[in-house]
Amino acid sequence: MSNGGCRGGCMYLIVSSPLPLPSFLFGVFFFLFFSLPFSNTLLSCLGHMTDQKKFSAEVRDDNPYSRLMALQRMGVVEDYEAIRHKSVAIIGAGGVGSVVAEMLTRCGIGKLLLFDYDKVELANMNRLFYRPEQQGMTKVDAAKATLEGINPDTTIVPCAYSITAVDQWDTFVESLLTGGVAPQTPIDLLLCCVDNFQARLTVNEVCLQHRLPWMESGVAENAVSGHIQLLLPGTTACYECCPPLVVATGMPEAKREGVCAASLPTTMGIVAGFLAQNTLKYLLQFGTVSEYVGYDAMRDYFPQVHIKANPDCRNRTCVARQAEYAADVAARGEAAHPLHAARQARLAREERERAAAKAKADACAAEWGITVEDKGKHSLAVAQGGGGQDGQGEVEYAYAAGQEDAEAPAEAYVQVDESESIEALMARMKGM
Ligand SMILES: [Zn+2]
Repeated sequence: MSNGGCRGGCMYLIVSSPLPLPSFLFGVFFFLFFSLPFSNTLLSCLGHMTDQKKFSAEVRDDNPYSRLMALQRMGVVEDYEAIRHKSVAIIGAGGVGSVVAEMLTRCGIGKLLLFDYDKVELANMNRLFYRPEQQGMTKVDAAKATLEGINPDTTIVPCAYSITAVDQWDTFVESLLTGGVAPQTPIDLLLCCVDNFQARLTVNEVCLQHRLPWMESGVAENAVSGHIQLLLPGTTACYECCPPLVVATGMPEAKREGVCAASLPTTMGIVAGFLAQNTLKYLLQFGTVSEYVGYDAMRDYFPQVHIKANPDCRNRTCVARQAEYAADVAARGEAAHPLHAARQARLAREERERAAAKAKADACAAEWGITVEDKGKHSLAVAQGGGGQDGQGEVEYAYAAGQEDAEAPAEAYVQVDESESIEALMARMKGM
């Protein structure tokens, strides 16, 4: 990892290296001696030469990581630099996948594996990322050139083949299981950004077989709705636990030759944003990783649902993974959940923040000779409305939660009768 803030200085030393060693050393010392005003930068560069994986948190206009490292300073992320050691596979480098790839590259991710066999066409220009002069290039080669230009610290691995081709299965599996940042380690997360169900089913199968966590994404053919979904083998639903009707009934896919699907860069950008955001939260263990977020562009409506793993899932590997997870839960309790450590870390961080806020309030109160009482889980000494019980002056909220906040509209949740089988649900849907 080079320090973007001093890339130019480092480059000077590297360019000088072909000189004979004594001349090179003389050149370095000459440069050091006559560059006293820049000596701090240069020493910093030399430091980074010995540890290429360090992000700089230095607040400088020429440091590409200063604003990302600020997330750590502000307590949002515990260890932002961990992203350098993360590897993500993106299946499909189209309107969603390419934008997610750019976002993660700009965030300094260690490695991206891009899978797509398509070529860039002028018909793609209504979307983000690709440029007209890249027409005819494979999407993954075009993406590699662009992304490496944006951030040379991210390793981009282009994979220009179809993951659904039977003769590519072994290559595909091998890429995922050895695609981590460290040699011979698996990827950390797979993002599925494809436009067909066959590829989604292939991803589902490989992730179930090899216990790889993944996120699915999709944008509707009419371009005004989309979704993202987290799939943790055995823990959450797999893609076949609750398949779309097209998959469940074996109907021909919506995408057919000669049918031109609509697409909007706005909808794709929003879905890509949610997917990249959830990826960051998952990899860096902050916030809540959503299990499912839908997007209805016509109403600006974002439903969130919880989809349980189906014990009668038609995929037998899924059922086996569910049994493994159930046994793990019986042995270890909540700690068996793949996101447990992240949840605990978040709760601990929130507790530290509350303790720090209370300490600050106590110090303030001591200074002014007043008493601070803990009035509840998330508040310090502030009661809603009315004066204090002892007749002292009241404290007002900048925003007071009303009844309408407490009661979410019924339509925000999907009503599920858990006793009903998936077959009965499908029969009901067909009848609608
Ligand atoms: Zn399943």
